[in-house]
Amino acid sequence: MKLDLSENEIQRYSRHILLPEVGGTGQVALKNASVLVVGAGGLGAPVALYLAAAGVGRIGLVDDDVVDLSNLQRQVVHTTHSIGQKKVESARHQLAALNPEITLETWDMRLDGPTAQELVARYDLVCDGCDNFATRYAVNAACVRAGKVLVSAAVQRFEGQLATFSPERGGGCYNCLYPATDGETTSLSCGEAGVFGAVTGVMGTLQATQALKELLGIGQSGVGQLLMWDALRMKFTTMALSADPACPVCGGGHG
Ligand SMILES: [Zn+2]
Repeated sequence: MKLDLSENEIQRYSRHILLPEVGGTGQVALKNASVLVVGAGGLGAPVALYLAAAGVGRIGLVDDDVVDLSNLQRQVVHTTHSIGQKKVESARHQLAALNPEITLETWDMRLDGPTAQELVARYDLVCDGCDNFATRYAVNAACVRAGKVLVSAAVQRFEGQLATFSPERGGGCYNCLYPATDGETTSLSCGEAGVFGAVTGVMGTLQATQALKELLGIGQSGVGQLLMWDALRMKFTTMALSADPACPVCGGGHG
């Protein structure tokens, strides 16, 4: 447990510290916090950049992909120079340049049941911005089992969604919202459907904001709510989530 901020850190985070809701105490809480970012792509890029800039003390990045030229339209943590590199290495390089005060851990792997369980247990909170349902379900199940808050976002074309899951606080889990049997068949990847790059930036930044608020314990949590954004209509809508009593993952017992 680190109790203090250095002179450098006080300067770096001064605009946070000025906020009564954060202050020195909140900034120290962020320094002692850890977040696992699943996917170093369109969502993971802004999530990781803002969490690193905000001074989250330990950030884990997991992704098994390499940087491709077609990623750069939205995955702003990577550069033209990093094409062909492992995404986690490319991101680590940029994040370390942004904030050398924090610890970065990289996991060059695709999460499945057991590996998700192992990784999730090492962090306080999880941000999922991955591009496939198998990983989403594995991460959700691991978060439910370990009692970790999951801030989940997704984008397609001009639309985005965001939800914070913490089943013991109500609203169920990711599997209550998208039961495993539906998801596999109804979704297209960015490569198939296309995606407006800036939409991933907005949704990832909202995801980082909710994660930081959870770590600080400030504001409205977003647990039990699905936020949807339609960029073409510039419309945000929210929907209350409810647990599925028959959910095999969280049991749905908490409303
Ligand atoms: Zn559930």
